[in-house]
Amino acid sequence: MEQKTLSYWQGKAASLVIEGRAFIDGAYRDAHSGRTFDCVSPIDGRTIAKVADCGAEDVDHAVAVARRAFDEQAWAGLNPRKRKAILLRWAVLLRAHLDEIALLETLDAGKPIGDTTTVDVPGAAYCVEWFAEAIDKVGGEVVPADHHLVGLVTREPIGVVAAVVPWNFPILMASWKFAPALAAGNSVVLKPSEKSPLSAIRIAQLAHEAGIPSGVFNVLPGGGEPGKLLALHSDVDCLAFTGSTAVGKQIMQYAGQSNLKRVWLELGGKSPNIVLPDCPDLDRAAKAAASAIFYNMGEMCTAGSRLLVHRDIKDAFLEKLTDAARSYKPGNPLDPDVSMGAIVDKVQLDRVLGYIDAGRKEAKLLLGGSRLNEASGGYYIEPTVFETARDARIAREEIFGPVLSVIVFDSVDDAVRIANDSEYGLAAAVWTSNLTSAHEISRRLRAGTVWVNCYDEGGDMNFPFGGYKQSGNGRDKSLHALEKYTELKSTLVRLR
Ligand code: NAP
Ligand code: MG
Repeated sequence: MEQKTLSYWQGKAASLVIEGRAFIDGAYRDAHSGRTFDCVSPIDGRTIAKVADCGAEDVDHAVAVARRAFDEQAWAGLNPRKRKAILLRWAVLLRAHLDEIALLETLDAGKPIGDTTTVDVPGAAYCVEWFAEAIDKVGGEVVPADHHLVGLVTREPIGVVAAVVPWNFPILMASWKFAPALAAGNSVVLKPSEKSPLSAIRIAQLAHEAGIPSGVFNVLPGGGEPGKLLALHSDVDCLAFTGSTAVGKQIMQYAGQSNLKRVWLELGGKSPNIVLPDCPDLDRAAKAAASAIFYNMGEMCTAGSRLLVHRDIKDAFLEKLTDAARSYKPGNPLDPDVSMGAIVDKVQLDRVLGYIDAGRKEAKLLLGGSRLNEASGGYYIEPTVFETARDARIAREEIFGPVLSVIVFDSVDDAVRIANDSEYGLAAAVWTSNLTSAHEISRRLRAGTVWVNCYDEGGDMNFPFGGYKQSGNGRDKSLHALEKYTELKSTLVRLR
């Protein structure tokens, strides 16, 4: 078997044919306006494709065909076993095209090829499989009622679901929306981020090949506009969003201004990672703390961006942490040996560097702090660690880059107070050998996911994922996600 080296992937990239058109009603189409935007690779700053810049006409078109498909019951009317079979076929095709989709993802978003081939694309295929397998096993209820009644409670698809998703895990975050939405029988209009549209565009053709009927799965790339137009559209029944808290707030308003569509939000985070003096394994905790913020260039909604360390172990722990951080060396993400790739684009690069500048003024720089490999034309930042006060700007705002804020605390109560003192509540972690402390602290942490003696574990689809507070509402993953894409119906039949 051919070794998949940097030059292997560069060769593949050179011969790759990239589709940049929207996918509407079972076919690739240019934007009605004919407009395109440049898709720029953060690896070297070069334009790799022209992508359809969809506008109002395209949004109306996609929503109309999604509605038509739903009304005709072309998908929702199928026996769930049939839907399952088609979705499973799609997952097989996703795996068959794994290298190609992973390469698109790496070129488009700068993510290491070693991750896109093992996490992003297989993770999306797994998500499709998981919801496909669930859908013919989840039924309704026959509920206690007056003797003269038969009472049924059923779940019905909600109709047209729009999914607006971010660029940090483009295909994976999209799958967390479209897999449960399609499994439940809805039509979907997927709006990928302008920064990373290529994988979503590619998999639409595979959905069609697998047998998903025309109009049921549509992909609308575009620069910001289609997301807003979908959120304002009166024929969209549900808008599932992953992205920033600021845009999430706007989307709720758009729903209020239009048809009160159901809005589900997975938003930002500033997750605390608490290390107590009785941490069972400081080496493992240091590696996990580094991975929590430097994996995927820190472009993680669950990033452990606030490291809370007890004063007694601070010096020993920070030494281990900076050692672990040094093993993340940014480089060409097409190189399978590279664990840290490029920041997604110039806008995000400048944003992160701006926070680093702010950090230099208000905190103590312990490691990193610079842009690297500028001559490549790409966007690379080295792992960066600050020791900072709890109320510094870099310790409060989501940076979404490889920048860690270390905060020292003196007691458990203090740690919990700092951890919860945030507008966010997506994830949190605590390291301790004491079973009672572990459970008590977990209960007190206001976050949708709590890790004990680990960070970022839980690839299984069985765990609901989402945030408390301004990290969002609703949950992706698990059977609970199906609730977002269904309406509950009570049917009462009078017998006599
Ligand atoms: P973003 O700027 O909010 O964009 C997210 C999506 O919304 C993109 O597709 C974007 O399209 C679209 N959009 C932008 N403005 C819009 C508007 N006014 N109305 C409707 N849609 C609009 O977020 P991002 O920079 O892509 O992603 C980073 C954020 O996502 C971070 O805050 C991160 O924490 C969060 N995130 C959360 C989770 C989670 O599960 N909780 C997971 C991953 C990321 P354009 O790209 O075309 O502008
Ligand atoms: Mg891109």
